[in-house]
Amino acid sequence: MDAIYTPPETLATLSGLDTGLLTAVVAGEARLTPEQALEIFHELPTPELGRWADARCRTVHGEAIRTYVIDRNINYTNVCTARCTFCAFRRDADDHDAYTLETEELLSKIEELVAIGGTQILMQGGMNPGLELDWYLDMLGAIKERFPSVHVHAFSPPELMEFIEFFGAEGDSLFAKARWVLGKLKAAGMDSLPGGGGEIFAAPVRRKIGLGKCDHEAWLTIMYAAHSLGMFTSASMMFGHIEGYADRIDHMRCVRTWQDKSLGVDAGPERCEGPGIFGHYKAFIAWPFQRDNSPLGRVKDWGSQAGDTGDFPGDVVATLYGDGDPMAHPEFGRRLRTSGTVDYLRTQALSRLFLDNIYSIGASWVTMGPQVGQTALAFGANDMGSVMMEENVVSAAGTTYCIDEPVLCRLIREAGFLPAQRNNTYDILRVHEGAESPDRAVRDWSEHRTKRLHIEQREQADAPLTIGMTD
Ligand code: SF4
Repeated sequence: MDAIYTPPETLATLSGLDTGLLTAVVAGEARLTPEQALEIFHELPTPELGRWADARCRTVHGEAIRTYVIDRNINYTNVCTARCTFCAFRRDADDHDAYTLETEELLSKIEELVAIGGTQILMQGGMNPGLELDWYLDMLGAIKERFPSVHVHAFSPPELMEFIEFFGAEGDSLFAKARWVLGKLKAAGMDSLPGGGGEIFAAPVRRKIGLGKCDHEAWLTIMYAAHSLGMFTSASMMFGHIEGYADRIDHMRCVRTWQDKSLGVDAGPERCEGPGIFGHYKAFIAWPFQRDNSPLGRVKDWGSQAGDTGDFPGDVVATLYGDGDPMAHPEFGRRLRTSGTVDYLRTQALSRLFLDNIYSIGASWVTMGPQVGQTALAFGANDMGSVMMEENVVSAAGTTYCIDEPVLCRLIREAGFLPAQRNNTYDILRVHEGAESPDRAVRDWSEHRTKRLHIEQREQADAPLTIGMTD
């Protein structure tokens, strides 16, 4: 996608269900308004929503290939001073199972990744005040010295907020301070910034579930600072908890608006380095909240209590512009509405139609399971994410699946596409057409069974839960 980009026209007077509007959206000739998106979410039957999202995906990505990447989640520390209510990963520094990886441990994990053809690490951790800037610079330097071709996709906007404070970043604005920190990390070996900590942007929801310090403005500003340094990033959304449906659309609206800025539309004065140098969001991935072991997961489901009648509290509070009144419903934040398969697929399909300026929409099989991830390829997703060697963060909070490259290729092929390995910038590295393809070379599929981390880890009484965030 070019740095200078012109968004399509909005046809705001049309209904979101108008076939002409949806045909134009599929062709990239019209942009949905938030109001049209909400109408689609509420009223378009699921098979139809899937068909439109699939058609849009085929416009952007063609008919033949769907991709995956081989990377490894590495969580360098679980010590964290934040207390997000949805998190089962964090530990206090003096907890018996608190850890910070030594550089050699980290390098040996990367060695294992490279041995299976991996190209990237996704490296994130808690907000650990015990780690100084030099610790990060030395770690990144050691990775690049030993593995110069491994792409380092690292940290997240909430971590960057802490770095700005911990490291005394220089600058007179958040944007300038973020650039100061990111510039040093980039020089040491960081290649791109994942979209962790996006959750839901709307302030009423964000204040209730944690991450209040990194509000949506800060999250998006830090991403913009990364783009200003030429980095590519991803955006994420964790839904299916206390938020209303309109909050999901507001979240996507914020991503789309800031992506326009990074692509050269409505550029602010910070866009000082000129076209072609800016990065932008390459991908959007949304996944449902996993409730096990987290404080938020202990909140009662809507409908379970006497008096739970009428509209879900999150819907009463939510607006399409993130400015809802948290006092509009007395039970807001005290009731959950978790997400099932249909809700997940509908949300992902809508993201494909609404986010007309985001190249890749990722399927979230890590939380939803391989078969749902495979189905997501028919609901607007073009990418199956990563072969999962290790996963820690989501597996601490619920179901997490681990699958290898042959299984991932088989899932894509069975869905009707050619599987292809990509790199972090979505360049195709290998298209698997022949008999030597990872899935076609398998003789015994029983040796490639899917692992379910949260179950298997707890069966090993002595094994600490290992945690991995997704991007
Ligand atoms: S989600 Fe991240 S920032 Fe929040 S408590 Fe967990 S580790 Fe800390």
